[in-house]
Amino acid sequence: MNTLPEWLNPGPDETRFKEMLSPDSRWSIEQLAAESKAMTLRRFGRTMTLYAPLYLSNHCPSGCAYCGFASDRTTPRRRLEHDELHKELEAMKQLGISDILLLTGERTKAADFDYLLRSVEIAASHMQRVSIEVFPMSIAEYRDLAIAGCTGITIYQETYDRKRYAELHRWGPKKDFLARLDTPSRALEGGIKTIGLGVLLGLADPMEDALMLYRHLRHLGKTWWRAGLSVSFPRMRPQTGGYQPPFAVSDHQLARMIFAFRIALPDVELVLSTRESPAFRDGMAGLAITRMSIASRTTVGGYNEPQNNDTGQFDVNDDRTAEAFCEALKQKQIEPVFKNWEHAYNGPATADPAGTPS
Ligand code: SF4
Repeated sequence: MNTLPEWLNPGPDETRFKEMLSPDSRWSIEQLAAESKAMTLRRFGRTMTLYAPLYLSNHCPSGCAYCGFASDRTTPRRRLEHDELHKELEAMKQLGISDILLLTGERTKAADFDYLLRSVEIAASHMQRVSIEVFPMSIAEYRDLAIAGCTGITIYQETYDRKRYAELHRWGPKKDFLARLDTPSRALEGGIKTIGLGVLLGLADPMEDALMLYRHLRHLGKTWWRAGLSVSFPRMRPQTGGYQPPFAVSDHQLARMIFAFRIALPDVELVLSTRESPAFRDGMAGLAITRMSIASRTTVGGYNEPQNNDTGQFDVNDDRTAEAFCEALKQKQIEPVFKNWEHAYNGPATADPAGTPS
């Protein structure tokens, strides 16, 4: 298959979303913020679920131009051994973290499926919720991971612009645009319950990417109506290699985009990471965002060792402690939530071609 799936074609229901995204919109940013705030309060209450990333390995055979872990970078390579993983998880628990996202690069001998599977088992024995942001896998592999305790995957398409995608993914398995595009469906077929999508803002036209991302979410929501869906809004950060994004996204543009997603897709969880500044994160809490990372380290073994931005995947922008961040949320009458909610799901995210909840 070398053609784009039909669901990426323009749909009849996207006019309003496009209008909200546009800087020439008839809706001011204040109007969008007010509507978004009301919808967030109605659907999610005054809560913020919190998670932290845990880097298992920074080995990677791919050559993504924008990443500090690309195989041509001089970044020292390291894999967290499983006895070290126990210690890392304990260090995270001391910070109050019980919801984690395990990360690796693309599949390598150092960090292959068996290594990942055992890592998920160990993490699930310590934490309440375990998700992964790793390499694309087969349905059978996702099934094994779900049994081991993995409930969610995050897989960013990075950009839906195929030409830009081909330029940016210089070599390695991630070059395969269509295989990556199909990954969320394979994960759901294998029994994974939640899917996180996103584009790396700065790589291509942000308005076009936001629209394609919207179509992807709509497609998954219709096909897998029981799946928990989330969307993240990562903006390019300084990283080893020094790639300069050609499509810089301003705070104003990003805020408009976040509000548009909240209003168009009221049930979808919206995520903001420590890539963003404390001021922007605090501003978005309560207006649209319902899930945030805290106390993040982007190096392998970063919770037992100080963060070294020279060896991380990217520089962290909000380096407040978990306590300081929770205090800032409480100042806004928002309750930080560390516990997971997967028990609300009592089965796989069954595909339903008719797209209708029973
Ligand atoms: S973005 Fe992922 S696949 Fe690409 S170089 Fe970085 S770690 Fe590897």
